[in-house]
Amino acid sequence: MEVIHSPDVARDFVWSLRREGKSVGLVPTMGALHEGHLSLVRISRELCDATIATIFVNPTQFGPGEDLEQYPRMMERDSDLLRKEGVVAIFAPSRDVMYPDGFSTMIDPPAISRTLEGQFRPDHFRGVVTVVMKLFQCMPCDRAVFGRKDYQQWKVIEAMARDLNVGIEIVDGDIVRESDGLAMSSRNRYLSDSERCRALRLSEALRAAERAVGDGQREVEALQQIMQRCLNGLSGEDQEESAKSDPNAGTNGVDQVDYAVVVDAETLEPLDSLDRPAVALIAARVGSTRLIDNQVLTPTLSEMEGR
Ligand code: AMP
Repeated sequence: MEVIHSPDVARDFVWSLRREGKSVGLVPTMGALHEGHLSLVRISRELCDATIATIFVNPTQFGPGEDLEQYPRMMERDSDLLRKEGVVAIFAPSRDVMYPDGFSTMIDPPAISRTLEGQFRPDHFRGVVTVVMKLFQCMPCDRAVFGRKDYQQWKVIEAMARDLNVGIEIVDGDIVRESDGLAMSSRNRYLSDSERCRALRLSEALRAAERAVGDGQREVEALQQIMQRCLNGLSGEDQEESAKSDPNAGTNGVDQVDYAVVVDAETLEPLDSLDRPAVALIAARVGSTRLIDNQVLTPTLSEMEGR
């Protein structure tokens, strides 16, 4: 397995594979790898002859006061994991190589970036699309694999690839979760034991919404209320009753909900009822850690066809 630091070497490496007739898959990451990342490597390995992973903590997608400097970096451990997964190369450029003095070109992200994460992290997607485009320029691959854990990011990258005729197939992978439901994230390591318990409210809220859809609930407002109550630490059938009678109800909740919404799964635009594929998206803070999670909610085919 090669470890490449230079964009020119990376480009030559990819072209030499493609000249040999091999298809190349790319898995961009910020490192501190977990099973979620490795599942994307496995998808790429199934679809492509050669898989390259990137490890780069991209400064332009972090806002002021976010965790750029604190973000975990563990190159040796990550390299071992990727070697075992059979990647042929890691591209791990330095910050100075990606953003040398005088760097000033940024990509204006697509419209779908303006809502949700875009409102809470104003320049985040500008940094994401710029770095992903740079990675695509350094590694002109056939396919690139992204996780649905970052649902809006996946949609933003799909739109960017389409709008800018990138010619790389964007492939998506399922969310990988811990056995108790917590979506795997490099940021989970920031959580204390008690915060980790409260972080479970996110996946529980999504499961509660999914259950309600299974029981026939189609009103988005009602689904959002179910998620909100769950995030506040009020769960079970009689959530409102417990809120009235138990003064401690809610202490097991998250500390702040940025959003807990059900929106159109393709456009991320608001919906009134589940008459088309939808996605429940949550961003919430537990202690000082900001977590995101989501769940696709699909109505039955006959409902979508208006029967
Ligand atoms: P990151 O290193 O957080 O920038 O993530 C790199 C890629 O891994 C992105 O495409 C993420 O969506 C994906 N990813 C992160 N966590 C998970 C997860 N739990 N399951 C699946 N994919 C994930």
